[in-house]
Amino acid sequence: LDTRLDLNQPYDELTQLARSFNTMLERIESAFLQQNHFVADAAHELRTPLATIRTQIEVIQLSQEATVSQYQETFSSVERALHRLEQLVSDMLILTMEKKQPLADRISILPVVEEAWEVVKHLAETRQVSLLIKGDLDIQVVVDEGSILRVFINMLENGIRYNRAGGEITLEMIKNSKQVIIRIHDTGIGIQEQDKWRIFDRFFRVDASRSRHKGGSGLGLSIVKHLMALYGAEVYLLESSPDGSTFILEFPL
Ligand code: ADP
Repeated sequence: LDTRLDLNQPYDELTQLARSFNTMLERIESAFLQQNHFVADAAHELRTPLATIRTQIEVIQLSQEATVSQYQETFSSVERALHRLEQLVSDMLILTMEKKQPLADRISILPVVEEAWEVVKHLAETRQVSLLIKGDLDIQVVVDEGSILRVFINMLENGIRYNRAGGEITLEMIKNSKQVIIRIHDTGIGIQEQDKWRIFDRFFRVDASRSRHKGGSGLGLSIVKHLMALYGAEVYLLESSPDGSTFILEFPL
């Protein structure tokens, strides 16, 4: 019996090694495919504002007697496209941030939410969307301030963009013995069942043309997920119906 075991041992080890090697190869292949998709999607996104810039410049070059106001229109259209390019590039850079915790501090959440609201206020005013903050307003979490500000800007921006005109966002802060929980509820259009699992994917939009028209790049939630993961924190969609959606941000204490 002992001899048989001895003979089997090297074979088993070899099989196991081959299996681990195959699993490793599959993982590398899948990571490579993901990377390829990301580059293809990124190139596609960058092409739209670039095409706008090229068309605008060609039109003005071809027109013999362009007026000052036509030049101004061209400039502002080119400026908008450049702004979009800058935003896309900075979003992509965030997503390439390494998966390790950047400098973290104990931060009060309320002032960060207020600062994020200031950033998106103009959008909120045009859509007449209001924000209600409730719960434990003294809550603190250990994060990097820039990252957490970005998280709230993206979450509030979505809460406004996909809300109905005159709608509301309610942000509730809860602390228990293990976690800090931020519940963000909006009275928006909601997300259909078949799209729920994809909304955190890079460049995914439920309705590409509508979302792009609203200023979305499809990177907002994937950035939130990426930044939260740097702190061992999580984001998920708790529930969604045609009357609104509730997202949860969960930070370990
Ligand atoms: P985008 O920049 O297009 O908003 P996100 O990654 O932030 O990209 O979101 C992905 C998609 O999920 C959006 O295009 C939108 O269709 C949907 N979505 C995100 N947040 C909400 C929300 N609060 N209500 C309804 N739909 C949402």
